[in-house]
Amino acid sequence: MGNYAIAIHGGAGSLMTGTVSPEKEKAYHEKLTEALELGYSILSKDGSAVDAVEAAVRVLEDSPLFNAGKGSVFNNDGVNEMDAAIMNGKTLKAGAIAEVHTIRNPISCARAVMEKTKHVLLASNGAEKFAKESGLEIVDSSYFYDEERHAQWVATKNNDVDYSWSGDGMPAGTKKFGTVGAVAVDKEGNIAAATSTGGVNNKKFGRVGDSPIIGAGTYANNKTCAVSCTGEGEYFIRNVVAYDISALMEYRGMTLAQATAEAMKKVALLGGEGGLVSIDAQGNISAPFNTSSMFRGWINAAGEKFTGIFR
Ligand code: ASP
Repeated sequence: MGNYAIAIHGGAGSLMTGTVSPEKEKAYHEKLTEALELGYSILSKDGSAVDAVEAAVRVLEDSPLFNAGKGSVFNNDGVNEMDAAIMNGKTLKAGAIAEVHTIRNPISCARAVMEKTKHVLLASNGAEKFAKESGLEIVDSSYFYDEERHAQWVATKNNDVDYSWSGDGMPAGTKKFGTVGAVAVDKEGNIAAATSTGGVNNKKFGRVGDSPIIGAGTYANNKTCAVSCTGEGEYFIRNVVAYDISALMEYRGMTLAQATAEAMKKVALLGGEGGLVSIDAQGNISAPFNTSSMFRGWINAAGEKFTGIFR
């Protein structure tokens, strides 16, 4: 029986210290802690890494603080359109959904795709139909509405895709992504990754980001690592970031820290911004980001807990 550990993120962005109200900062830390503790308690009771990452992501999806599930950003048509993916590092099985509007917890639907179908990615109406057939909770699309996110969209809807965020008294142009993700290793040494997102504010109808693309925003392989990314998804897709980290470890013999640093360097070279959380089968955690903030946290193999927002 090995050490178990979990790491999560609630999105990268350009928040600066002092720009988030103390009340809101506290709320972020509390929600990250709740997600971490739930995931960790599953691992401590011999639960699987897949169970732990799904549970942690569901907590963040249910919170309007993050851009996933409730509180997702709006696309250019004023609609919430969500993507999610999960991967089991033991079996290399993966499931993902894209462009869904009524599935309360997209991550659970991604898991159902992984476990109940021969497919990896279901999109739009097909994914919605599958969720219903699988008995998952379906909600009216108004459930996902959040006033601040809506105001953010109204302020930017006549622009081209706009990643900027000026809610919560933050200066206009402040970028905040807010996708959520989790990676974990269980007592058996199996690892898993999960990511869920509303995408980016004011995205074009039908735009799919990196989160549900296996190898781009989400990847897990027991031989190497589990990765969940956040940031400007197009750069993470073009760099195949999550799989690149795994490949750097497998073929170049890099450590997790070396591989994540190398992959993030390539994202920055193309001009991309964001970050990721990752873990290996020994419980090492690496969570680099090239933005000024990333909501993140972990409980490591020694049982030490951390949550953070700023650099
Ligand atoms: N990576 C996500 C996307 O491009 C956005 C985010 O991280 O918030 O869809």
